[in-house]
Amino acid sequence: MTLQDQKQESVWTENESPSIKTYTLANFRNLPAIQKMSEEKQFEMEVVGNVLPFKTNNFVVEQLIDWKDIPNDSMFVLTFPQKEMLLPKHYDQMASTLKSGADKKEIQEVANQIRMQLNPHPAGQMELNVPTLKDGTKLYGMQHKYKETCLFFPSQSQTCHAYCSFCFRWPQFVGMDEMKFAMKEGEQLVQYLTEHPEISDVLFTGGDPMIMKAKMFSTYIDTLLDADIPNLKTIRIGTKALSYWPYKFLTDDDAAETLNIFERITNKGLHIAIMAHFNHLVELSTGSIKTAIKRVRETGAQIRTQSPLLAHINDDADMWAEMWKKQVQLGCIPYYMFVVRDTGAQHYFGVPLVKAYEIFTSAYKKISGLGRTVRGPSMSATPGKVLVDGIPTINGKKVISLRFLQGRNPDWVQKPFYAEYDEKAIWLDDLKPAFEDKFFFEDEFKTKFKIIKEN
Ligand SMILES: *Cc1c(COP(=O)(O)O)cnc(C)c1O
Ligand code: SF4
Repeated sequence: MTLQDQKQESVWTENESPSIKTYTLANFRNLPAIQKMSEEKQFEMEVVGNVLPFKTNNFVVEQLIDWKDIPNDSMFVLTFPQKEMLLPKHYDQMASTLKSGADKKEIQEVANQIRMQLNPHPAGQMELNVPTLKDGTKLYGMQHKYKETCLFFPSQSQTCHAYCSFCFRWPQFVGMDEMKFAMKEGEQLVQYLTEHPEISDVLFTGGDPMIMKAKMFSTYIDTLLDADIPNLKTIRIGTKALSYWPYKFLTDDDAAETLNIFERITNKGLHIAIMAHFNHLVELSTGSIKTAIKRVRETGAQIRTQSPLLAHINDDADMWAEMWKKQVQLGCIPYYMFVVRDTGAQHYFGVPLVKAYEIFTSAYKKISGLGRTVRGPSMSATPGKVLVDGIPTINGKKVISLRFLQGRNPDWVQKPFYAEYDEKAIWLDDLKPAFEDKFFFEDEFKTKFKIIKEN
């Protein structure tokens, strides 16, 4: 499917200057396309949207979703809640709460009760990765899991232009407040980077940092640049704005200033890496996205792309091959294919590891070497980023070959290890060692890292 096939009523060009209009539970029923759907279907969305975050916008609705292909259209599934995203028992619990005429507070309580059962903080991100300054201050707005790179969650970027229904960051968006990573000041970031000369990369994440007005964003960036931290080499920005709101880089009031900030980073001699999320080919098809990519690249920024492999959205090798080809053509560097995390609606989006490996390999074979910078399928698990590297037969035994791309202990990286072949396994925890009674990293992981969790 391409955008051309969709016969949109009108196609917005890169020269348009639309203003963003947000749709949430409060107003989605006003959309004409939604009103055409049955009351039952609208209620289903309301039930799920009361548990998982739901927010979309006029660009996604009018330019990316193919309303003639509802309910199957991938961009629809990516942004609108679907009944099957909740387990039947959770769905029924919320549906009967709503039907009983419960008030806001009751709905919220039931929602939180269900959310707590959805593994809201996978990969130990709450307990394990919170860094501390030498003076003892805990930095809840940061994560430092891998030596060279620290994640920074500006308090101003705890939302996105639209929400992806699969997103593992969902607890940040539904007001489970005590679990929100947020940090007000760039100064603590500077302090931490100064105390940790091993860090070369800072990754701004959220939500979506590109939701911030340029003025706010530049406060953070200027604090970093002015500090002249010798070990800081790269500033990364994790964002889906190129896809969900390309006008951020085209005609928004602060578009020019945003691009200027990127340029200032480049001029300072640092690398600016835009870690762009593209989940579906259609997201690369509009004129506005292509021009936005061009503008961003003109600042000296390099765009790298990543996405999880998702059932109902992109579990199709041909589409991945086309996405990677298109990205290379537009001057982007394919970077990661992720395995969808063990949280939220994983039962809906999950693709078994063996199938993920087959899709990755089949797509990888179809592209030139310039696209083969991509790595995957990779699980961001508690011990590290683990790649499914092959399905070899060793001494007559078919196994799954794995390898750390990143490890809590850097020494774990690159060592191959093997799990029993299992077509159903969808996460590292499901796998059993093939030749030993435990994986090589398990003892060290338990003694060194689990202890922290119990403190
Ligand atoms: C993926 C990830 C990074 C960045 O890893 P790279 O392989 O350098 O892209 C950093 N921190 C965390 C917690 C991550 O999951
Ligand atoms: S844009 Fe990124 S952070 Fe926001 S909902 Fe989508 S995946 Fe999550």
